[in-house]
Amino acid sequence: MRKLLLLLLSGPLAMAGLPALPASAAPPQFQSQSQSQSALRWPHGARVAVSLAYDDALDSQLDVALPALQRHGLQASFYLQLSHPSVERRLAAWRRAARQGHELGNHSLFHQCSGSTPGHDWVTPQRDLDHTTAAQMRDQVLIANAMLYAIDGQRERTYTVPCGETLASGEDYLPLIAPAFLGIKVAGGALTARAALRPAAVQVLAPVGLSGAQLIALVRSAAAEGDLVNLTFHGVGGDYLSVSAEAHEALLAYLASHREQYWTTTFRNIMRHVQAQNHRSSAP
Ligand SMILES: [Zn+2]
Repeated sequence: MRKLLLLLLSGPLAMAGLPALPASAAPPQFQSQSQSQSALRWPHGARVAVSLAYDDALDSQLDVALPALQRHGLQASFYLQLSHPSVERRLAAWRRAARQGHELGNHSLFHQCSGSTPGHDWVTPQRDLDHTTAAQMRDQVLIANAMLYAIDGQRERTYTVPCGETLASGEDYLPLIAPAFLGIKVAGGALTARAALRPAAVQVLAPVGLSGAQLIALVRSAAAEGDLVNLTFHGVGGDYLSVSAEAHEALLAYLASHREQYWTTTFRNIMRHVQAQNHRSSAP
């Protein structure tokens, strides 16, 4: 099952985003494997933590995704690219989302990705990760944290790596920024088992064009064999790399009606919980 997901993920990199699961991909088959013996304990006995995330600071996230989350009483993480025009244009709306309990996550200042990746001809020279040093990325990501603090007053937050690409001029910049974050999302897949959970490199899947049934199948497969599921959306009912408003709505309705099984919350809350459990288990 895990192999199947990894195979599905090895498709072409999606524009401006993380590697995406294509719409044509069949939903994973469920397997009745035994539960992980070392499963994380989540609040209220939930079996799986679910992080719904929305990258790039897109209008459809404020106009479609956020109202749906509010309607279902679910919390999520919005990873802002701080240079995106919507951050300034819709500052009050982003600030309101944070007040409603959602996380404003860091998605860098300029969304640097590698210009040499096939299909990345949209990468401009001044925002090419191949020509940005790791130290420059560290400085910019930390400034992005300061800007987010000015927006929401929060000190703790998480990061999602633009395009899932971590090599700045050939050097992995994540070790330079890891101390500033509770958790960092990288590319990989939707499911993470307890044994594989590394806060500085938590894998995430970016679904594009999937139906509600396919999205629900993804989180159900996590209940069968994972402890944590990370789905990163871009457009919802608009913009790019989108899922439809209907598919998104179906997923939220499913999660909201199965709260005993799924703890859907911000990635910040999930990683705070992981950190607290790690502290407890390492206490003498
Ligand atoms: Zn992005």
